[in-house]
Amino acid sequence: MKLQNSGEMPHRETAHSTFLEVMFIFKERSQEHMIKGILFDVDNTLIDFYRFKEESCNAAIDAMINAGLRLNKTRAKKDIYAIFQKKGLEYPKIFDDFLMKTEGRVDYRKLARAIIAYRNRRQRFIKPYTGVETTLAKLKKKGLKIGILSDAPRLKAWMRLCTMGIEDYFDFVVTFDDTGQRKPHPKPFAQALGQMKLRPEEILMVGDNSKRDIDGGRKLGMHTAFAAYGSKDRTSKADHTLRKFSDVLKMVR
Ligand SMILES: [Mg+2]
Repeated sequence: MKLQNSGEMPHRETAHSTFLEVMFIFKERSQEHMIKGILFDVDNTLIDFYRFKEESCNAAIDAMINAGLRLNKTRAKKDIYAIFQKKGLEYPKIFDDFLMKTEGRVDYRKLARAIIAYRNRRQRFIKPYTGVETTLAKLKKKGLKIGILSDAPRLKAWMRLCTMGIEDYFDFVVTFDDTGQRKPHPKPFAQALGQMKLRPEEILMVGDNSKRDIDGGRKLGMHTAFAAYGSKDRTSKADHTLRKFSDVLKMVR
């Protein structure tokens, strides 16, 4: 189908785009009525995970430098992110490995200072995106079922939700520990589906990762909304794109 006309038949172009608009509105409306439950990813969907990770690591690096680490900040940051790249952003022994690599041993004075600085800074930066809490309250008021579907370890996911003080909005929390599989594997989605007690076409999956959240949700027949505001992905195959968190309200009645 040709979306743009060459210009010789303007009336056809207008008719065509009007037709597309009507179809789009029809699609939006029909979806509005179907959504009875929403599944949210956590990191970079509810919370700016990259920012809190970066801020916390900066604090840890400063603390290690203050404790005598002979490395400049830029280099330290590069080395730490290289370890994250290999072992994952949730790797718990990040500073042990970093000190071992840099100094050939783990100096516990530096390690302890790094961990304390990291935790203190993290506490300040675990904040939901603008509008998260008011939007969740509105969704709850509409009687929707709301759940969490996260690849984070169970305790970390809960700690983040509780730090933000939004844990009570969710009817259930499904994490990596529940199935041993990560999105887009169908297992975590199936687990969440069981908790929702709804049909896949009645559920909206909201997430920032086009492959894990969006493709994963689509595979099970769920509606999908791409959290573009928190994503590093440019595009997705999602039914909707969210420019801000509260846009999710447009997808429900
Ligand atoms: Mg995410």
